[in-house]
Amino acid sequence: MTDKPALKLKRLQDMTVNGKRVLIRVDYNVPMKGSKIEDNARIRETLKTLEYLIAEGGKIVLIAHLGRPKGKVEAKYSLKPVAEELAKLLKKPVAFAADCVGPVAEKAVAALKAGDVLLLENLRFHAEEEANDAAFAKALAKNADLFIQDAFGALHRAHASTAGVTRHLSGAVGFLVQRELEFLDRVIGNPTRPFLAIIGGAKVSDKLAVLDKLLDRVDALLIGGAMAYTFLAAQGINIGKSLLEKDQIDAAKAIIEKAYNKKVECLLPADHLIVREIKADSPASVSQAMAIPSDMIGVDIGPHTIEFFQEHIAKAKTIFWNGPMGIFEMPAFAQGSLAVAKAMSEATGTGAITIVGGGDSLAVLAKTGLAAKMSHCSTGGGASLELLEGKVLPGLAALAS
Ligand code: AMP
Repeated sequence: MTDKPALKLKRLQDMTVNGKRVLIRVDYNVPMKGSKIEDNARIRETLKTLEYLIAEGGKIVLIAHLGRPKGKVEAKYSLKPVAEELAKLLKKPVAFAADCVGPVAEKAVAALKAGDVLLLENLRFHAEEEANDAAFAKALAKNADLFIQDAFGALHRAHASTAGVTRHLSGAVGFLVQRELEFLDRVIGNPTRPFLAIIGGAKVSDKLAVLDKLLDRVDALLIGGAMAYTFLAAQGINIGKSLLEKDQIDAAKAIIEKAYNKKVECLLPADHLIVREIKADSPASVSQAMAIPSDMIGVDIGPHTIEFFQEHIAKAKTIFWNGPMGIFEMPAFAQGSLAVAKAMSEATGTGAITIVGGGDSLAVLAKTGLAAKMSHCSTGGGASLELLEGKVLPGLAALAS
């Protein structure tokens, strides 16, 4: 990006890996139901890096976390089912070691031959991982000759496996991280215009810094979801009983003013789907205009808003979307989010670059099967937003030479 120093990062393809023990940090924090993996997308995303390393004859040692076991061994957070799923996807055996450091891990690593794959148990079974403990990082590094960072979703955290370990091993970024940076750093840093950002979701406070930075880059900003109500309230518009972050009203005013001064179109919903109470089967109606009656709650953008959001999407050449337009978890209030997803997929078809980040937006795509029709779906919600804010991600800074 233009306002932060470019990091000099080595790439996986710049390293010689043949016969070497390669420690790879991956993001296998997959949704689980009992010991069943509900969605293996995060595992599939790493296959390109792994297949390359297998073909190049590396001895592959995978490290990852699952859930929040808070430094204690808990069977439900074991990565063993992930090793089994990975073996199916790679169509070759994947060894598993019941600890990520110490004699159990060392023995399993010593048994590896060129092209073999080993997954070590959950890093977060040790509290030292999140504490970025120096001795723990050294113990992880002991099992390898090289380090590959391919966990984009963990790059905004300075943990032993993302930062500490790089003090002991020379490292590079894998294909997944390269692809994320290609889209989020290069494309958004130097976008084909018009560049449109669509931001939704509930928490204004979480996304203010991103909105502020985006205004320096985009040509138009569409705000939907519960966030929009704080912006409408900041303009003195009645929002009824809709979600409001009162303490963010001044910040919302400042964003609107900045957009005006920079001549960036900042568009808020012109109508809303409204209900008397938030229940999946609540009868919903459409508000007459921007204002919401005092006893009603906005739960999605309205049909007129959907129409002009679609028009803006169709005109844009680069589109970034983060955050749902309504309470999409309830099907009756998902229309706005689905319409944005559909319009974006059509824009991809006409040559626009379309980028979707954040777990909820990806969940909307999963419902529609439209993920494959986007130019890029970011695997890291937090990391992608921090990158857009112009922050240097600790996991990348640690790797940079
Ligand atoms: P965030 O974590 O800030 O991205 O917010 C995502 C959440 O925003 C989702 O769980 C949505 O249900 C919620 N959301 C979106 N629109 C609304 C709305 N109009 N009222 C309440 N919650 C909403």
